[in-house]
Amino acid sequence: MGSIGSNLQEVKERIARACAAAGRDAKLITRARVPGAGAGITLLAVSKTFGAEAVREAHAAGQRAFGENYVQEALAKIEALADLGSDLEWHLIGPLQSNKTRAVAERFDWVHSVDRLKIAERLAEQRPPGMAPLQVLLQVNVSGESSKSGVAPAELPALAAAVAALPRGRLVLRGLMSIPEPATSPAAQRAPHHRLRELLETLNSQGLGLDTLSMGMSADLEAAIAEGATLVRVGTAIFGRR
Ligand SMILES: *Cc1c(COP(=O)(O)O)cnc(C)c1O
Repeated sequence: MGSIGSNLQEVKERIARACAAAGRDAKLITRARVPGAGAGITLLAVSKTFGAEAVREAHAAGQRAFGENYVQEALAKIEALADLGSDLEWHLIGPLQSNKTRAVAERFDWVHSVDRLKIAERLAEQRPPGMAPLQVLLQVNVSGESSKSGVAPAELPALAAAVAALPRGRLVLRGLMSIPEPATSPAAQRAPHHRLRELLETLNSQGLGLDTLSMGMSADLEAAIAEGATLVRVGTAIFGRR
């Protein structure tokens, strides 16, 4: 592994090559915040288990969007990096319990892991007025029983409709996220990503206007980009082994 800066550069090159192979626009969108930012791809740097200094180093190399799994750990990091303020964009990608929603509503920009209406309702209620609306993705369990997190595909349409109906000044439903079972062959990697894109297209055919597919990690970002990912979540390839 090289430095965080050179690792970031390599990941960006992987994204550019994957976009070229898929005939997609390779524009890198630094901040995921803006709805309808266009056809490019957002690189989310997953900094879980790495300290604030690693995030600072990635920021110095131009990275702005960071993903965290554990609320307590993330809050400590956000605090330690307060001097960078809104230059950093924080995404919660790990499981969220009801008793942590307030801190998340107050400190994060995005939540990728909503899989129950109750969590979305609490986030909407607790998002401070005056802050930009929280950007939300629904986590879908595309691999079936093997994973406990995520809404089942059959229950997705009802959940999506209910979340989309929450006050948009507080919370905006932007799309879907998944964490498929690890797979090694390109075809096996693509199948669950394909499924997630189909689910998004079905919701959009019902008028939901979703524009974000959060899928693909260090090992399978090429497969995810081939299937239409708009945001890839990359930890190991940037920060090293955990
Ligand atoms: C840890 C994690 C990642 C990053 O995985 P790498 O294999 O290290 O790139 C992405 N998404 C989620 C939800 C994670 O928990």
